[in-house]
Amino acid sequence: MLNESVTNVNGIGEKFAEELLALDIRTVEDLLFYFPSRYDVFEVKPLSELIHEDKVTIEGRVLNTPSLSFFGKKKSRLSFNVEVENVAVKAVMFNRAFAKKQINAGDTITLTGKWDAHRLQITVSNYKKGSADTQAEIQPLYSLRGNIKNIKLKKAILSAIKAYENQIEEILPQHFLTAYKLPNRSLAVNTMHFPASRIALKHARRRFTYEEFLLFQLKMQLLRKINREATEGNQQQVDLEKVTTFMNQFPFTLTNAQKKSLNEILKDMQSPYRMNRLLQGDVGSGKTAVAALALYASITAGKQGALMVPTEILAEQHYQSLTELFGKHASIVLLTGSVKGKKRRELLEKVENHEVDIVIGTHALIQDDVFFHDLGFVIVDEQHRFGVEQRRMLREKGLMPDVLFMTATPIPRTLAITAFGDMDVSVIDEMPAGRKDVETYWTKENNFERVLDFIQKHVRNGEQAYVICPLIEESDKLDIQNAVELYHQLSDYYPPEIKVGLMHGRLSSEEKDEVMKDFANNDVQILVSTTVVEVGVNVPNATIMVIHDAERFGLSQLHQLRGRVGRGDQQSYCILIAEPKSEVGKERMRIMCETNNGFTLAEEDLKLRGPGDFFGKKQSGLPEFKVGDMVHDYRALETSRKDAQEIIENNLLETSQDYYRLKQELEKEGLFETKLD
Ligand code: ADP
Ligand code: MG
Repeated sequence: MLNESVTNVNGIGEKFAEELLALDIRTVEDLLFYFPSRYDVFEVKPLSELIHEDKVTIEGRVLNTPSLSFFGKKKSRLSFNVEVENVAVKAVMFNRAFAKKQINAGDTITLTGKWDAHRLQITVSNYKKGSADTQAEIQPLYSLRGNIKNIKLKKAILSAIKAYENQIEEILPQHFLTAYKLPNRSLAVNTMHFPASRIALKHARRRFTYEEFLLFQLKMQLLRKINREATEGNQQQVDLEKVTTFMNQFPFTLTNAQKKSLNEILKDMQSPYRMNRLLQGDVGSGKTAVAALALYASITAGKQGALMVPTEILAEQHYQSLTELFGKHASIVLLTGSVKGKKRRELLEKVENHEVDIVIGTHALIQDDVFFHDLGFVIVDEQHRFGVEQRRMLREKGLMPDVLFMTATPIPRTLAITAFGDMDVSVIDEMPAGRKDVETYWTKENNFERVLDFIQKHVRNGEQAYVICPLIEESDKLDIQNAVELYHQLSDYYPPEIKVGLMHGRLSSEEKDEVMKDFANNDVQILVSTTVVEVGVNVPNATIMVIHDAERFGLSQLHQLRGRVGRGDQQSYCILIAEPKSEVGKERMRIMCETNNGFTLAEEDLKLRGPGDFFGKKQSGLPEFKVGDMVHDYRALETSRKDAQEIIENNLLETSQDYYRLKQELEKEGLFETKLD
């Protein structure tokens, strides 16, 4: 049985089984499907094809007796020359003094290691006497945790495959395998771990890519279907005339993109189905205006609305701009953690009695003691901070509102449609007329003083600046240390009348709000910050955004940060301080300087980095695939989407024996019990 404990596998004892828990491996099946994250390919290539700093394998004849030198404490360096294609290549080996005796002039040798193309030198990590095998050797590399060693895991998997191989059942209908020329499941598992060739590996990967995409798409389509059936009757009687009147009172006319999005939203509200829509638009593209009109539409239907944002400061900002926009057209309240005691009780009572039309707040809005009279419409700002958990809470409170998610992270349309398969997507891809682009420059660290003087000049002119610190991914702690250091550096550099503030992730939310308030009131002119400032903060007087180590950020993230400025009438600037080493890195800086369009950047970013990096640290709520890659395997994603649609539309999971195993896989995830999400 594949679902029995890994301890049943030859060679896995209790202790190893316990270690495997760190990799989430419990059953034999978990083990078999723990695929390598990378492979080492040892394939001898001609010198001319070797890439600088790549791991390479070369074969040649040893020219001289290796010379050994010692340095530091117990460290050694062995070096010798090897003749490869009539060229002398230098080989260096660290801390392997013992190899001196084994390597002799005249020997044929195969070396694997890091290639330095400038010095014609290889830093050897692996060597083998004699010629390389004719065929490329492909070794699995697993991502590991704790004490687990690659070689041990590899052995365990090999032994599991031997014993259980014939229990790995096919789950895809045979006609798919034939049509797409995919290897069967059992063979593909074997190949994923121990590929006989690159070609075989490619096909095994194709198979699992398709399998996981298909399962994902089926899940999405099913949810969509269940969602629709469960929310029948959720139709809002919107008064379109009133909405138009309200819209005409705005101090501007909507852009075409805003109109189109608004219409899509209004249509959803009037349809019998519960809306589940994502509204995407660059910072400043006017999402809030659209959101306000949608909220108003819901009010004309006699319902209440809620707006949820990730932080209190954002809640306040939205509260201000919406009360201004709505005037007497709606009664709006702000409900945050700082509203306490009697005041809070009174507010809640008003919400429950429908004396309030719109409630603005953080997630606490749906979590605590808040009861609505008739909640018809919920807007969630910055979609990626709002998870499945919150949606469940809404549901558990018996609420079935239309839900609109808003995000300023432009997600390429193609990707959004497939990635958020259970959501509809509206896009505002056009800026209101007359916006000034943020001028973007790229410079190096040694110009930092000039940058500081540039800031000073503008601060003297009444403007403000953000300075984003280097990001240190491995360590939160170092990150903050850096911010603190930079903060002191700037405080020392500037005269006392220029106030510098400091913002980072370790501050409590009250402290953060305090800092942001000081900045918003221009009590602080320069804000040194880690990237926590990224989400939606609006200080129109800030005109300069300086980003240290810009090469470490994704284009979308840089763009997001840049969006903090350029919000007022003044010309704004974004200064990227970066020393990218690779061509791709330089290209990214150039793209940033050239374009202000978030969607263009997103497409470029996606091409350059792939979706995993693109969305940052797992905050996107996007699915993670084990084998498939949403960008690279985009066509497979599309194919699987079409197949899934057909399967669900024709109800094949229920009616056809061919799909029985697929259905079982979906059942494993409890899908047929879920009602929503
Ligand atoms: P977002 O929420 O997408 O960042 P906002 O809705 O806050 O953008 O809009 C940014 C600014 O642009 C606001 O000051 C808003 O009043 C203004 N604005 C919105 N739509 C338009 C428009 N069609 N024409 C001119 N200005 C607009
Ligand atoms: Mg509806």
